[in-house]
Amino acid sequence: MILMSAQGIKVLKNKVFDKSKWMQLPRDVVIGHDVLSQIPKVCEDLRLGSSVLIITGSKTGEVAGRKVASILEETCSCRIWSSTSISPEKIHEAEAAAAGADFIIGVGGGRVIDTAKIVSYNLDRQFISVPTAASHDGIASSRASVPIEGGSVSLEAHPPIALVADTGVIAQAPHRLLASGCADIISNYTAILDWELSHRIRGEEISEYAVALSRMTAELLVKNADLIKPHNEQSAWMVTKALVSSGVAMSIAGSSRPASGGEHKFSHALDRLAPGKGLHGEQCGIGSIITMYLHGGDWQGIRDSLRKIGAPVTPAEMGISDEIAVEALLSAKEIRPERFTILDMGLTKESAHELVRMLYQE
Ligand SMILES: [Zn+2]
Repeated sequence: MILMSAQGIKVLKNKVFDKSKWMQLPRDVVIGHDVLSQIPKVCEDLRLGSSVLIITGSKTGEVAGRKVASILEETCSCRIWSSTSISPEKIHEAEAAAAGADFIIGVGGGRVIDTAKIVSYNLDRQFISVPTAASHDGIASSRASVPIEGGSVSLEAHPPIALVADTGVIAQAPHRLLASGCADIISNYTAILDWELSHRIRGEEISEYAVALSRMTAELLVKNADLIKPHNEQSAWMVTKALVSSGVAMSIAGSSRPASGGEHKFSHALDRLAPGKGLHGEQCGIGSIITMYLHGGDWQGIRDSLRKIGAPVTPAEMGISDEIAVEALLSAKEIRPERFTILDMGLTKESAHELVRMLYQE
């Protein structure tokens, strides 16, 4: 039976509405100049407790980890655990170190934040993300990537309860990291095209809100690509905000879908085939040029933006051979096969070669 409501909207009287959804978002997000000093206020605001384990890296520990510990000294009992790498063994070590701590702060690059995210999730403690570089959108998202033998796995954890991103610290990081973060955001364009394709072909559920936010984030960054400069706080500010916004799009979707499509699978395949060469965002950026071409979109536009920002646009610029890139394109569909992308549409070896050659065109 169809009724007309007061506003004239049709309401299906007998249709039971049974949808439900969880969205987990960070609660306090503090970005800007010299904001490390605001960490005690954030801890107090969130009533996180009085003992903390700071997970940091060796270099990032020197840059910011120790500073965070000294800032918190008066209000918290702090211990520091630092590591240069991430592995399942290291995560166990960090978990043992976190025993007795009320909460966790991750101060460092992508690996450190991922370690803190997994440890806090496994131990059911809150964590604050304090990135020292804006190199990928994991700084504010719920997903973490852990290297295992022969590649890496992406794990579902929870997003940080707070993010404190000091633009002064981020601007000091090597420009390559910031450019890689930009490339990760630019790859949202093709991640969304893959999601929409899967929605049309397979009926995969899609979130228009997540799509709109993810696309707008990429568009804003591309529009301002000229302003992305090395070692500049304004640039660090823009990119960090975009990475947070990308993380929020993932939180709204409840998955990494709005920021991870075929270009991310290509990057994961490269992690397996050429470990330690390209950075996550760099590889995704190049994957995005290719999948944008396959979608019939403006692939040159993606390439020009990446160039402007200082991110690589060919496998050679990452020290990866064209043969490996071809292999990565062909094997990408084996990674998370349930996530349908344009790379599942029957790409041949000849076409894959052509696509890689295309990257070198002027
Ligand atoms: Zn990414």
